[in-house]
Amino acid sequence: MSVTVGWPAEAGRRTLRRIPGVLLVALTSACGHPPASAPANQPPRHLIIVTIDTLRADRLGAYGNTTIPTPNFDRIAAEGVRAIDASTHVPITRPAHTSLLTGRYPAEHGIRDNISLPLAADVPTLAETLKGQGFATAAFVSSFVLSTQSGLNRGFDHYDDAFKKGTTDEIMLFSSLQRRGDDTLSRVEEWLDSRPPDVQAKRTALWVHLYDPHDPYEPPEPFASKFADRPYDGEVAWTDTLLGRLRASLEARKMWDNALVIITADHGEALGEHDETGHGFFTYETTLKVPLVMRGPGLSPNATVNGTVRLVDVAPTALALLGVPPMPETTGVDLSPHLVPGGAPITRLTYAESLTPLLQYQWSDLRVIRDGPWKYILAPRPELYDLSSDPGETRDLATTETATAARLRTALEGLLRVERNRASSRPAATPALSADVLQKLGALGYVSPGAPKNSVAQGADPKDKIEEFRTLSGLMREGLTLLRQGRYAESISRFTGLQKAGSEAFQVYFYLGRAQLGLGRTRDAEKSFERTIEIMPNFTQAHVSLAEARLVRKDPQGAIAALQRGQRDAPNEPDLFDREGQVWQQLGDLPRAMAAYERVAALAPRDALVRWRMGEVVLTQGQPDRARELFRQATELDPTVADYWNSLGMVLGGAGDQTGAADAFRKALERDPKDARVAYNLGLVLMRAGDPSARAQFERVLALDPGFRPARERLAELGR
Ligand SMILES: [Zn+2]
Repeated sequence: MSVTVGWPAEAGRRTLRRIPGVLLVALTSACGHPPASAPANQPPRHLIIVTIDTLRADRLGAYGNTTIPTPNFDRIAAEGVRAIDASTHVPITRPAHTSLLTGRYPAEHGIRDNISLPLAADVPTLAETLKGQGFATAAFVSSFVLSTQSGLNRGFDHYDDAFKKGTTDEIMLFSSLQRRGDDTLSRVEEWLDSRPPDVQAKRTALWVHLYDPHDPYEPPEPFASKFADRPYDGEVAWTDTLLGRLRASLEARKMWDNALVIITADHGEALGEHDETGHGFFTYETTLKVPLVMRGPGLSPNATVNGTVRLVDVAPTALALLGVPPMPETTGVDLSPHLVPGGAPITRLTYAESLTPLLQYQWSDLRVIRDGPWKYILAPRPELYDLSSDPGETRDLATTETATAARLRTALEGLLRVERNRASSRPAATPALSADVLQKLGALGYVSPGAPKNSVAQGADPKDKIEEFRTLSGLMREGLTLLRQGRYAESISRFTGLQKAGSEAFQVYFYLGRAQLGLGRTRDAEKSFERTIEIMPNFTQAHVSLAEARLVRKDPQGAIAALQRGQRDAPNEPDLFDREGQVWQQLGDLPRAMAAYERVAALAPRDALVRWRMGEVVLTQGQPDRARELFRQATELDPTVADYWNSLGMVLGGAGDQTGAADAFRKALERDPKDARVAYNLGLVLMRAGDPSARAQFERVLALDPGFRPARERLAELGR
């Protein structure tokens, strides 16, 4: 890099001045003085990384906020090192997390949005590196975009991404598929307690992702009432209590004081500034600036790090602090020399991007380079800001500070040249992309080697399109709401409105197809799903929906063909095999149904439902012993479902095991006390065993369903 100008000391002081007085005392005492006690020689034993999605630094007390209680975050910040200025590289969940966990810029790891193919297998990850060093590794994520299909699970022994599956229409809104932080923490605690002694004895790396501050802002009580007029802040306050709970859990298991704890965010939230509401479109500090604190053995309390800390630096720094060899070829560097009191300020350039305007609307992309306080945004009309005097980015200096603008532009173009060369030398990554996506990437200049030199910053300037973007986003939101409410004709008008405005996004075709299907316009729906698949071949739900449309117009063979095509495009998706099995089962072709379910069981070893389905198939085939085994597996994998216990009870009863059957039916009734069918089954086995309590069961059946004739007949028999 030819341009490396340090962050002027002046800027650092101005930043400090915005921190409230109490903290300032603590901060200054830690700056530039030798530590009171010698740093611990032992590296931290464990690594705990917490990423809080969509968390703005300025909402935290440690970053100067005075209106939201964040005592848990602030305490951790006071106990460790706080980055005054930490920056993400993309204001989008998946690429940002990928940069954090690989130490690479987006173009280097290849993940530019939330819907890309999984992270390429040749990109090393932090988890993989730690696992290679003997760490036990576990991750708990709270958003669908970080589930195993992201590829971020590589290197984790345990990757918890189990979300409650909703209806198809809910699943499609996949960016909104999330779980609340307290559910995620319950899973963390269950995992901590279920570890066998040999895992407990290991050094441990734990990543916890909390999604709560992300839209929709719906904090639980008491935060919903307390922050009724600013629900985002309520989510921040709620999430802070989760940090406290996680800390207590780890302290109770002696995994806190000896751990390197890192807390950061993937991006911020615009909250209306620069006319942007959420995140992911613009590249202003509202969404690029993130909080970052680190605490643990060897790190001084109350310390701050001056200069820009990049998310790509976090993983290399963590490895160094843990005393573990570095990952190869990271752009991020080990910042540990800067973390000691009196450490030199960081002076590296940092890069960021937003490709959303290009990929979704074919407007210009945005590329950012920062050198200390100077921030240059490459767009059709470039922007330049001095963050030290203008942190809100309100005074564009691109046409007045021309020398600085030119210097930063040269540095940025150097990075983009490297990006183009890398893309053209890695053609292996491209064939899986559809023609459409390739075309869009081609417009960026990093797929086609023959692309013109200045192919970035072409097309409409996002600054001129923010209103249109909000309108289109609004249409999308309305269309989805109407779709969920079953108001199909109205939702179709929103999606066709988006298409008239030029959107070629695969989601729009998909939602349009769902609405058409809702109206019974199956042929139109099929066309929409086919187009969705052309644009995004590995989008499972499009294949499932195409099959659904064909089933509606009574073409089961066509449905199976659609599912099998989906299996070729997305070979690891159990849902596509599960649906195929169900169609074969309805057609009465049990061997083919069974073959499909076997694939599901292999892909999803902990799926209880498919065991139950397989049990039903083999029972129909006259194999009660095998069915009993499968039903038993279903109850073991998920003991909460009454149907599994009822089926188990029926085969046990059929084999003459009345005690086992009665026990299974009782378990089914505990789970679903209102199921007259199960109560009748229990009455029947009790009656066969000569148990007088059978009468009470049949009476219970009639109380639940007075029209249940067999129960009346059994009671009459008992009465004789
Ligand atoms: Zn995010």
